[in-house]
Amino acid sequence: MTRRGLLLATTLLPFRMMAAEQSIPLRGRLRQGEDSKPGIITREGKSIDVSGDAATLGVLRDQRLKDADFEAMGHFTGPAQFEADPIYKKALFAWSGGKRLMVTYWCEICSIRAWTPGNCQCCQRPMKLDLRDPALEDTDPTN
Ligand SMILES: [Zn+2]
Repeated sequence: MTRRGLLLATTLLPFRMMAAEQSIPLRGRLRQGEDSKPGIITREGKSIDVSGDAATLGVLRDQRLKDADFEAMGHFTGPAQFEADPIYKKALFAWSGGKRLMVTYWCEICSIRAWTPGNCQCCQRPMKLDLRDPALEDTDPTN
């Protein structure tokens, strides 16, 4: 392969991968059960299991989001199985008052934002659930 051909191949590859992994939204009531996997019950009443990375599962199991009008971006891996995008893609939303809000966690003492529930990495206090307009900046919750 010529030098120019190689360059072309490496620059085109990411676009092809993106097309293959295009995300679609799955929206419905967030299903959480003691013994069942987290899932989303669609408006049509269909129960879909939702999987994802550890941070994503942390959000899906967050009791504060139980029965929330929830939306995950990702793709179907089976007729009733959906895999949410990795947490860094910020693929998890809750609908409130007609608005699609990003699921985030906030420590007001340290002004630290996180994308999965748990204790603040700085002061170790539990972080607050902070549903947030995706258009806003990441840092200040009062905006
Ligand atoms: Zn903190």
